[in-house]
Amino acid sequence: MRLLLVEDDPLLGDGIKTALQREGYVVEWLDNGTDAMAALRFDDFSVVVLDLGLPDVDGMQVLRHLRRKSALPVLILTARDDVEDRIAGLDGGADDYVLKPFDLQELLARLRVVMRRAEGRASQVLEVGPLRIDEARHQVTWRGEAISLARREYALLLELARHPDKVMTRPRLESLLYGWDEEVASNAVEVHIHHLRKKLDKSLIATVRGIGYRLDPRIE
Ligand code: CA
Repeated sequence: MRLLLVEDDPLLGDGIKTALQREGYVVEWLDNGTDAMAALRFDDFSVVVLDLGLPDVDGMQVLRHLRRKSALPVLILTARDDVEDRIAGLDGGADDYVLKPFDLQELLARLRVVMRRAEGRASQVLEVGPLRIDEARHQVTWRGEAISLARREYALLLELARHPDKVMTRPRLESLLYGWDEEVASNAVEVHIHHLRKKLDKSLIATVRGIGYRLDPRIE
């Protein structure tokens, strides 16, 4: 999952980035609103964590800019205890907010809720046929048996499971799995797919020739 973090406090930004990466997110971290608006125009994210108090443009402005053409889930961070700010944020299209200072576990839980709501899901457990992914616990089971996956294998499986009927192209999967500053081997996605098929079931992930991959939700 590719996440844009917009936070100007270096210590806090670094802490959030590390925690989110540990959770399996690909995190792009920017410390100002101008760069954030440019990134949102040209890049593809799954979710945004946006601080409202930024050094250049107000976070609200970034939110309004985004909302002109995108329904991307946005979680706002605010240090201000002003109720009006939070209301303005929610009215401006934020999906939820977290008040600073916050516990990182709370931020992670709120993010899961925001993502779930965006996907129209009620449960934190994703089920596709005999595949079950518990996002909060990072547990994958296949036909009731726990499966141990490497970080990127897990992230890839999660992306496929979140869109079970959709073909995910290789470039799209690459962008969801790797950050701007990471080198990606040209066959990286194929290698992860190969491992997933071996660890789960070879028919679970279908190759759509020339396009990409999708889970085969008809599998029993
Ligand atoms: Ca700030």
